[in-house]
Amino acid sequence: MSGETLHVYFLGTAGALPTPLRNPPCIMVRRGSDTLLFDCGEGAQQQMMRSRCGFTVNAVFITHWHADHFLGLFGLVQTMSFNGRTEPLTIYGPEWVHECVTILRQVARFNLKFPLESVEMTQGSWVRFDGYTVTAFFAKHGLPSLGYVLEEDARPGRFNRERAIGLGVPPGPLFGRLQRGEVVRLGAGPEARDVRPEEVMGSSRPGRKIVYTGDTRAIHMNIHEFAHDADLLIHDATYDETEAERGAEFHHATAAQAGEAAVSLHAHTLVLVHTSSRYPDAKQHISDAQKKFSGPVIAPDDLDMIEVGFRDGV
Ligand SMILES: [Zn+2]
Ligand SMILES: [Zn+2]
Repeated sequence: MSGETLHVYFLGTAGALPTPLRNPPCIMVRRGSDTLLFDCGEGAQQQMMRSRCGFTVNAVFITHWHADHFLGLFGLVQTMSFNGRTEPLTIYGPEWVHECVTILRQVARFNLKFPLESVEMTQGSWVRFDGYTVTAFFAKHGLPSLGYVLEEDARPGRFNRERAIGLGVPPGPLFGRLQRGEVVRLGAGPEARDVRPEEVMGSSRPGRKIVYTGDTRAIHMNIHEFAHDADLLIHDATYDETEAERGAEFHHATAAQAGEAAVSLHAHTLVLVHTSSRYPDAKQHISDAQKKFSGPVIAPDDLDMIEVGFRDGV
């Protein structure tokens, strides 16, 4: 349903190698009381502590099995056990997820206090949560690699109170029934008539949508069906334009390509991540992306947080 808060915490924004200021990739999404991790780079648990969001992780989605994207799972699982977690934790990821979770269980065998589960994802696989869905799509990174879409359910349209009153519906409990999609009968006997919800409700409104590509070359032509119209497109932007060739060689995108993806996918806001350690900052990346994409472009630092609001403001 509508009304849940939606916050994205950038716990690790580095590409491949950490720097003193950037941890390996980890993005934490908090929606209401749910917490999901997308990738879990080394040191993720300390970044979670710094963000003061606790360890109540509901699920972890790994994009691919390059070590910068999952080494943080080992320490995190250990700490969750020390903290007394008993609820199962599911790790979702592309092929090799079962092997990785088997290794995790072995490494944590002396104190693992909760069930660790693994689910292999492929393009089109989805996981249902209360009020939203996470769906996987293929990225292009030279090995099995996925991106993920978190998309909320559509919200009901607005209730037209004046119209309802005009149709003879008295303010009160009948309003609630119409808002819940029920037909309301007014009067009795031959005078009775029905008021249908569609007479007083506007058309449904989209929920919020976050797309995270993980590591990838430019793929926007391939992922439109999954990744179009995102409120937040979080895209690989390992390199700036001076190193586009290197990007192609190592299966990464440049910031300019991320900008092109934001245009063709009709993203609202573009977020550049996985910045290579060769750059002291991401100023050039932002400028490269802005040459392609006229919407907001953000290159977050570690521990930056973005609150995703509804586009219609409510
Ligand atoms: Zn990486
Ligand atoms: Zn990678």
